[in-house]
Amino acid sequence: AEKLLEVKNLKTSFFTHVGEVKAVNDVSFDVYEGQTVGIVGESGSGKSVTSMSIMRLIAPPGKIVDGQIIFEGKDILKLSEKEMRDIRGNKISMIFQDPMTSLNPVFTIGNQLIEAIKIHNKVSKAQAKKRAVEMLKLVGIPSPERRLSQYPHEFSGGMRQRVMIAMALSCNPKLLIADEPTTALDVTIQAQILDLLKKLQQQLKMSIILITHDLGVVADICQKVIVMYGGIIVEEGTVDDIFYNPKHPYTWGLLRSVPKMHLGLKKRLVPIEGQPPDLLKPPKGCPFAPRCEYAMRVCLEARPPLFEVGDGHRSRCWLNHQYAPQELLEKVKAA
Ligand code: SF4
Ligand code: MG
Repeated sequence: AEKLLEVKNLKTSFFTHVGEVKAVNDVSFDVYEGQTVGIVGESGSGKSVTSMSIMRLIAPPGKIVDGQIIFEGKDILKLSEKEMRDIRGNKISMIFQDPMTSLNPVFTIGNQLIEAIKIHNKVSKAQAKKRAVEMLKLVGIPSPERRLSQYPHEFSGGMRQRVMIAMALSCNPKLLIADEPTTALDVTIQAQILDLLKKLQQQLKMSIILITHDLGVVADICQKVIVMYGGIIVEEGTVDDIFYNPKHPYTWGLLRSVPKMHLGLKKRLVPIEGQPPDLLKPPKGCPFAPRCEYAMRVCLEARPPLFEVGDGHRSRCWLNHQYAPQELLEKVKAA
């Protein structure tokens, strides 16, 4: 497959009156055509800022300070706002957590969907309506003809999210960015929406970036997982790497906080103790050090590089250094 998107050394900061908040601090990753990439992290880890940077929707006091975002071979950071609008509406689409904020309550679903279709395609109103019905069918909304004349409040949360997905797909995007698309939904509906995204991805061969704080959400639909912490990537690998052979203490913590729904247990989740780093004063060393039970002296002094720990598997932890102290590695194995 071809590379669709290449994020290179992206730095995005917010310039507040108390100083520069380095929300995304040197992030690089690729998305291939037809690939689903999960970006996982707590709130404030930089995952949403990364996606808003890709859409070039960072507003002041925020600013993309450095890096490249190469989409279909072109650096979109160099495009004019007009050229960017074209990409945003036609090639990259985005869906958010709460569809109610993105749907207009005073217009019918049909109205809004037909408008969206007409913006992106040169079609008559009748053709747009026909396509709107098809889109609603595609996202699994029953009796779509009747549904077109209803208002957003007449839809359940899950159905509204399906409508938003239909809107996002009305331009046939190459890349869909889904930022916490299921967070506001209950568990059963969440599973249905993820299932739908997976089906659509296979059917339409688009790429998806799925942003979530919940590692459990990515297991089923992503091929690649990026774990972010404090504005940087701390681990990257395949779903199998991340779930069965994780190499970073933060990922271990996230895994302990994943509900084991398939086991039918309501196991108590283990949150990671402590606070995320203050990005106004990013620590000199590893940003996870204050919360890490394996922290060594070097962790406070120098930021670890992303170590290659397998084919396409990278981890930013001094434990992955070949000279990491043996007794710590024993402790890790025992845990
Ligand atoms: Fe913990 Fe050190 Fe690894 Fe950071 S580099 S995660 S502090 S062991
Ligand atoms: Mg967010």
